[in-house]
Amino acid sequence: GVQPDGGAGTATQASAKAASDVPAVKATGVHKAFGGLHVLKGIDMTVEPGTVTVILGPSGSGKSTFLRLINQLETITAGSIEINGELIGFKHVNKGGRDVLQTLNDREIGRQRAELGMVFQRFNLFPHRTALQNVMEAPVHVAKTPKAKARAEAMAQLERVGMADRANYYPMQLSGGQQQRVAIARALAMHPKIMLFDEPTSALDPELVGEVLGVMRTLADAGMTMIVVTHEIGFAREVADQVVFMDGGVVVERGSSSIIDHPAEPRFQDFLSNVL
Ligand code: ADP
Ligand code: MG
Repeated sequence: GVQPDGGAGTATQASAKAASDVPAVKATGVHKAFGGLHVLKGIDMTVEPGTVTVILGPSGSGKSTFLRLINQLETITAGSIEINGELIGFKHVNKGGRDVLQTLNDREIGRQRAELGMVFQRFNLFPHRTALQNVMEAPVHVAKTPKAKARAEAMAQLERVGMADRANYYPMQLSGGQQQRVAIARALAMHPKIMLFDEPTSALDPELVGEVLGVMRTLADAGMTMIVVTHEIGFAREVADQVVFMDGGVVVERGSSSIIDHPAEPRFQDFLSNVL
């Protein structure tokens, strides 16, 4: 699935293909070890474009580590991940007739990471910037978008998450749910093709969970490709195209959202009986 370097023609073909039948994410035999701690032990996962995958699993099962590998916040120990058909983190180079895997440089990794938006459990907004300034930050300073254009686009993203009327508020003046909606707008401002959510509602008071899940549902309905780690079983049941249950660094069970009501594996049954 690795694309050769090519001109515009190749790139156009590749993106036309990506829009049709190339998985948005394809993880193959993914392992991750931190020193002697073997955290991921051969994860295979395919996420089709425009679909929502919900990853469930107990604390410590490796869910965050898997998302962080996809976003290249960690380096993979073994196996491979492709985003829209492109291998991440490495490229094949021909060295004296031999095919060798070479680590990508920071610029190349930056280009790949730009395909992804990530939302974390903690909102991570800049405290001394308004909601609008938070959303404009990366477009202006990373993508070098002219300020006026970035401001207009940021307002549109705030509108999308229902926060346009709070554009000039500082994070501390916003509820946790509102801050998380701004964090989603901030991720969307870079026009990612895939959104990763790592327990986006776990730090919220219960009455604020719904507004964030509502925004995520709207995104899913609009066709965004999403991988969501969450304990919100209702969201998984209603929104997920694919449910993946991880435990101990392996995928124990996967299927459509119907597996939530008919889990086959005892470990998944136990997990569900504890969270439901
Ligand atoms: P989950 O998100 O499912 O709760 P994590 O991916 O956060 O699980 O963690 C899986 C395991 O990997 C845990 O035992 C955790 O302590 C360990 N781990 C995660 N990140 C690191 C790290 N940077 N260094 C060492 N161990 C880590
Ligand atoms: Mg986690």
